[in-house]
Amino acid sequence: MQDILSPLGLNHIRSFFSHRPLVVFDFDGTLASISSNRDEVHASDLTRALVGRLSQWIPVGVVSGRRLSDLTERFRGMDRVILAGNHGGESPDDSDDSYRQRAVLAAEDVKQFLGELSKIELLQAMPAHVIENKRLSLTFHWRGVDPELVRKWGQEVRRIAAESGNFRMIPGIQSLSVIPRHLSDKGDAVLGLRDAARRTHLVYLGDEETDEDVFRKAAGEAFLGIRVGESGSSAADWYVSSQSEVDRVIEVFLALVAGPTASAVSMSRPA
Ligand SMILES: [Mg+2]
Repeated sequence: MQDILSPLGLNHIRSFFSHRPLVVFDFDGTLASISSNRDEVHASDLTRALVGRLSQWIPVGVVSGRRLSDLTERFRGMDRVILAGNHGGESPDDSDDSYRQRAVLAAEDVKQFLGELSKIELLQAMPAHVIENKRLSLTFHWRGVDPELVRKWGQEVRRIAAESGNFRMIPGIQSLSVIPRHLSDKGDAVLGLRDAARRTHLVYLGDEETDEDVFRKAAGEAFLGIRVGESGSSAADWYVSSQSEVDRVIEVFLALVAGPTASAVSMSRPA
């Protein structure tokens, strides 16, 4: 894994961007820094401006575990940015039948899972904010919850998922996502966006386990995968050291597709 902002990395970006790729971002931890209150997580004005400007030159997408309605709110006024929620299982383009059918099956699975969950006595002890029901998938947020309760609760969640056999469980930062196997993962979703955008080349930035589906599935294609945070276990070839460096990466992209005039955005960055 190498630093994408090193001279070697910048050279690589330069040659890759001559193909005018599709650029896709994860949201939490990539375009926005993570906060203990997930409702308060937001992309900075500079990040939004950079992403918006990039989308005027090349196709840009955001694929997140959040619900599509949540993402749509966050990218209001940025109509060119393609959004996909629920780890890629929820797309604004409902003209795709297989997408729709998978979503119907996933919603059924989630309903069944919640039914099983409601039978657990421990449920009463759990604060309501722990369960994020995204209709097509679930995420449990452990932050601020008694570790003993999290341990017991985690056991029950895993038991229900294992008995049904219909779910993937993906640990996140103080969270656990329960994703129906029917739902397409981020890897399939991002490759689908690339094909829909009729691009040969793809760039993806992400920071967590669900993003590894993209790094793994796109490996071997014309692909530039950048992980936010260096990691020995990631399938990505490149990294940026932290979320705060992502703006710089987008600025590099922008200068290549739009020319030096685009740097007007970065001029307004506070010192
Ligand atoms: Mg993330």
